[in-house]
Amino acid sequence: EFWTSDRIRSEFFNYFRNKNHTFVPSSSTIPLNDPSLLFANAGMNQFKPIFLGTVDPRSEMATLKRAFNSQKCVRAGGKHNDLDNIGKSSYHHTFFEMLGNWSFGDYFKKESIAQSWEVLTAVYKLPKDQIYATYFEGDAENGLEPDLEAKQHWLEQGMAEDHIVPGSSKDNFWEMGKTGPCGPSSEIFFDCVGGRNASHIVNQDDPNVIEIWNNVFIQFNRESDGSFRPLPSKHIDTGLGLERLVYVLQNKRSTYDTDLFLPILTQIQHLTRIRPYEGRFGSIDTDGIDTAYRIVADHVRSLTFILSDGGIPGSVGSGYVLRHILRRGALTARNKLGVTLGSFFSSLMPVVLESLGHIYPEITQRTKEMQEILDSEERAFSQILEKGEKLFQQVTSRAIQQNATEIGGGDVWRLYDTFGFPVDLTRFMAEQLGLGIDEVGFEIAKARSRESSTVSPVGLTQGVALTVHDIAYLRDNFKLEATDDASKHELST
Ligand code: ATP
Ligand code: MG
Ligand code: MG
Ligand code: MG
Repeated sequence: EFWTSDRIRSEFFNYFRNKNHTFVPSSSTIPLNDPSLLFANAGMNQFKPIFLGTVDPRSEMATLKRAFNSQKCVRAGGKHNDLDNIGKSSYHHTFFEMLGNWSFGDYFKKESIAQSWEVLTAVYKLPKDQIYATYFEGDAENGLEPDLEAKQHWLEQGMAEDHIVPGSSKDNFWEMGKTGPCGPSSEIFFDCVGGRNASHIVNQDDPNVIEIWNNVFIQFNRESDGSFRPLPSKHIDTGLGLERLVYVLQNKRSTYDTDLFLPILTQIQHLTRIRPYEGRFGSIDTDGIDTAYRIVADHVRSLTFILSDGGIPGSVGSGYVLRHILRRGALTARNKLGVTLGSFFSSLMPVVLESLGHIYPEITQRTKEMQEILDSEERAFSQILEKGEKLFQQVTSRAIQQNATEIGGGDVWRLYDTFGFPVDLTRFMAEQLGLGIDEVGFEIAKARSRESSTVSPVGLTQGVALTVHDIAYLRDNFKLEATDDASKHELST
């Protein structure tokens, strides 16, 4: 039987609706009341007030016990930043849908694990011998016991013992911040080809063994003295990546080969007349065309969703990330797919509206305006490229001639200062030529330039080489940070 992505999404909804969960529509990709977040990066974001106990008791949310939805997530910039992996990864995206179910002080670990197992093995009928789960191994230093309950519940469901793998606090303990609600998690992995074993989960070295679902058991409050106080009312927070589940159920080799992405790849081919997508990754993708297909297909989805939620390209915060995604995509389309920039992304956008507009009608509401924004950004970028690319080529060919592994920080700064090439763009362009950039040298050049033009900070003489500490000092005391670099903002979930 063929599992369309629409059917996969709706079967998830049906299952949790039948278990007395309430559908709560996805929140915006751009969080309205949460300055700590650039973009919604998980389904739990909009429920934070419940976990923190700050929810307005008169609001509808205060009465929620069980909820489910599919959340529009963006992981580009901020704490979860998968942007640099796009094109390379067969299952990470900047925009993705996170299916989720929640219990707010209602059912807990046992029931949540039983539900996850039933969804995967009975609803979607995935073979049990290809499913693995992790559990928190404990952290004696911080007084945390191993989560043997989770392990026990998986055993009770019938999961083989050698499929249940301990994991460290890095992957298996979730905290919202330095204090507050937190707890162990259990991640579910699927072996897409069969015949793998637990070592692939431990080493995370096999692209065919992928994480599909995360169950978080919010059972502690981290106190200001660092201790963990058991919560009187415990919560469940889960996240299941739709694109990954579709990849698994459609028996493909990546998320891009599914019905969520194929129409986009086809339209890219139609617009560019380049050879069809062949699904090659890494060094096997010798001409870089398949990688370019993936970057463009991924980026047109995130651009569409961010713009439809009111995102505006700019030089700070989410606007900066939006602009960077457009430029990264446009550059790739131009250099690898032979596109003349001007209205490429706006011509591609309609396929996204067609495939997801019935689930998220908001993306179809302001399409003309969205397309105008895309076009003017694309044109402006094309002009920037025209002016600065000569210097970029000089700088990179010199580096290659000299067998250097990176381009100098001063040059990176000049590209930024004179031609408006943000450092993220230069880094991305250099990477395609196998070059890095001198990040510290760039910071030094930036700080020096600001130092001579704006302030002369105490204790720093012009012309004296700045140390990394000096740069940190400048940054902290004079806010000399270039505002275009969203990744430097302190952000947390
Ligand atoms: P990974 O380790 O693969 O990067 P994660 O541990 O960062 O995933 P979680 O924060 O646990 O992911 O999010 C819950 C689920 O959301 C994941 O199990 C996965 O199915 C999905 N997911 C996370 N990041 C992405 C992404 N960049 N693209 C697509 N799906 C994602
Ligand atoms: Mg991740
Ligand atoms: Mg993970
Ligand atoms: Mg995870």
